[in-house]
Amino acid sequence: MIQLKNLSKKYGKFTAVDNIDLHVERGELFGFVGPNGAGKTTTLRMIAGILRPTSGRVLLGGDDVVTNPMSAKARLGFIPDRPFLYEKLTGAEFLRFVAGLYGQDGTVVEKRSNELLDLFELTAWKDQLIEAYSHGMRQKLIISSALIHRPEAIVVDEPMVGLDPRGARLLKDIFRAFVKKGGTVLMSTHTLEIAEAMCDRVAIIQSGSIVVSGSMAELREQTEAGDASLEELFLKVTGGAAAKELAAVLED
Ligand code: ATP
Repeated sequence: MIQLKNLSKKYGKFTAVDNIDLHVERGELFGFVGPNGAGKTTTLRMIAGILRPTSGRVLLGGDDVVTNPMSAKARLGFIPDRPFLYEKLTGAEFLRFVAGLYGQDGTVVEKRSNELLDLFELTAWKDQLIEAYSHGMRQKLIISSALIHRPEAIVVDEPMVGLDPRGARLLKDIFRAFVKKGGTVLMSTHTLEIAEAMCDRVAIIQSGSIVVSGSMAELREQTEAGDASLEELFLKVTGGAAAKELAAVLED
């Protein structure tokens, strides 16, 4: 469903994403993890069609995001790490506005919008201006807006940040239900326990390249990591030695 082919992004001379190949299948929940500055957000933004790749391609359900953006983007719901909301709209107006961007309006949108607001416990707030929403409520509204046009795939950057435990649990349940029905989720996260517990496959990205990817069992095999957790595996692959050295220095 989400295919990255030799995907690269350079900022000037600096290569942020270096020749990535990845295929996230329909019905799959895929985790993207890596240290700060590894290239996760840059990759997700290229998938969403917000950043133009320097080279390589992004295909969504076979549609190229650069050459066929309308059909590609119609398949996708994107939840960015730093979302933008129009503060002077109400929650309900914002959802109507986003649906309009996808060419949808009328009673179908009203029904869908009410369902989502209900699901995220925002119904009581739907006619309040967004400027009065808390951080978590904004996050829930953004997630609702990414689902309003019934996308086939969701790409999400750090989904759990700012959500209370109920909200985080709800989001996990929504993602699992979404992939069970044949949807696709690609999510980046620093919360490795969540990635390990939720994802069918995980890729660890470092310095713009995928170092390892696969199911937890495959990752353990590839890295000869015994029964290691994703956190242990992550530190092994991305330079856990440095952390150990630091601990030794602090002990001295
Ligand atoms: P984090 O986990 O810290 O959010 P990330 O894996 O999402 O990191 P990116 O935001 O994709 O990383 O950044 C990858 C690299 O590209 C970093 O070195 C960053 O400084 C650089 N970078 C990102 N955006 C730009 C930009 N607009 N101009 C120049 N360099 C950039």
